[in-house]
Amino acid sequence: MARVAVVGAGPSGLAQLHAFEEARRGGAEVPEVVCFEKQSDWGGLWNYTWRTGLDQYGDPVHGSMYRYLWSNGPKECLEFADYTFDEHFGKPIPSFPPREVLFDYITGRAKKSNVRQNIQFDTAVRWISFDPVRDTFEVTVESRPTGSTRTEEFDNVIVATGHFSSPNVPEYPGFATFPGRVLHAHDFRDAQEFAGKDLLVIGSSYSAEDIALQSKKYGARSVTICYRNAPMGFGWPEGISEVPKLDRLEGRTAHFVDGTTRDVDAIVLCTGYRHWFPFIEDNLRLRTDNVLYPSDLYKGVVWTANPKLMYLGMQDQYYTFNMFDAQAWFARDVVLGRIPLPARGEMERDIASWRERQDTLGGPADDIDFQTDYVRDLLEDVDYAAFDLDLVREHFNTWEHHKEESITGYRDKSFSSPCTGTTGPVHHTPWWDEPDDSLGAFLRTDA
Ligand SMILES: Cc1cc2nc3c(=O)[nH]c(=O)nc-3n(C[C@H](O)[C@H](O)[C@H](O)COP(=O)(O)OP(=O)(O)OC[C@H]3O[C@@H](n4cnc5c(N)ncnc54)[C@H](O)[C@@H]3O)c2cc1C
Repeated sequence: MARVAVVGAGPSGLAQLHAFEEARRGGAEVPEVVCFEKQSDWGGLWNYTWRTGLDQYGDPVHGSMYRYLWSNGPKECLEFADYTFDEHFGKPIPSFPPREVLFDYITGRAKKSNVRQNIQFDTAVRWISFDPVRDTFEVTVESRPTGSTRTEEFDNVIVATGHFSSPNVPEYPGFATFPGRVLHAHDFRDAQEFAGKDLLVIGSSYSAEDIALQSKKYGARSVTICYRNAPMGFGWPEGISEVPKLDRLEGRTAHFVDGTTRDVDAIVLCTGYRHWFPFIEDNLRLRTDNVLYPSDLYKGVVWTANPKLMYLGMQDQYYTFNMFDAQAWFARDVVLGRIPLPARGEMERDIASWRERQDTLGGPADDIDFQTDYVRDLLEDVDYAAFDLDLVREHFNTWEHHKEESITGYRDKSFSSPCTGTTGPVHHTPWWDEPDDSLGAFLRTDA
């Protein structure tokens, strides 16, 4: 029997297991699917850990999520078309759930489709190579609790290890003698640590935006955000401000390129992540920045130099869970032979045309259109459950406007489901005033 290895049991890997299970339940003959997950539980980044640095086995910690993290986009934009929020929670819920609620939702579908049995936990993939003679992959895994390794043979490998775990860490003059803490967003866990402090946040994307807001919400005295190219420009609440690029630190005084200074107690580097695949041989290793259409991946999934290898979730992400589903369905159907692949030259031309369009994108509205078209393109070839993709696109644009209107208030809005049509209720407490991010508090109806 053919064998498929899935590396990682985060949302992408779980989507892949679910896709194969759906085909099996539909009567298809499916290969043996084995998922290796280096952590002891599933959910990927949504599986919160307090750990930072190295984990209990000496590997870099995968988790980058922090306490009090709430979805930064409407849940309706990521809804599984074949397992709706209404189905999971038994009632409509507000549009911006906290992490624990989304973890419950992701793993709820995985429990329903009974895919946990496919996963070997605490098992890290250490090396993947391809044997052209046998036409198979050799996958070396380590059982982390025992340290024992073994090598198994697979016909296909699907890499679903995410790309928000290996921090990109720049250095600025004066860091070495700064008297406070300097940390990357990857190691940020609890905003309360910075209560009463003056914080410097370096960066201007989602992490900078959210960590600045979190920190102020949980009591930071001030948050200064410094940007490299352009400010985010939101209407920040009192105590948060944006300044141009950091030039240097002298003691605890930050000097910016416009000549202004601020005294700060701690620095959070929201300077992004690297795609990092130390476990795969050179000629199979994806090399890309965080872009909407990485090179070398046909349909954003298939490694053109060896189409038996696939990658999921490697794009910059407006769309998440439903895009991972579309990719997983596509990857599955390639493995099952339902989708014939064109010759390599044609795959490369297809990638080139997407990347030419990518070069013309002028901002979030264009990006959203681009990724909507990408997901639509994938869905055309597969039998994933129908949902209203145009409505998702519209929701993303509305959400961007809401953020412009109020960066502390956009999470209080509600959206309609592209799967069921149901509109989520407005949350009982405005996000800015709600310190409790637990599932119980979020779902309570007596507030
Ligand atoms: C701070 C932060 C906030 C975010 N907020 C949102 C949000 O609000 N909404 C949203 O939709 N998305 C959000 N995201 C995006 C996030 O990338 C996706 O939601 C999703 O987690 C990606 O899923 P994934 O399965 O591709 O990767 P991951 O979730 O990273 O999962 C990868 C899995 O692979 C495993 N793994 C890695 N290496 C190995 C190995 N060598 N061997 C075995 N297993 C391995 C890991 O342990 C992990 O379980 C956020 C990301 C970050 C960092």
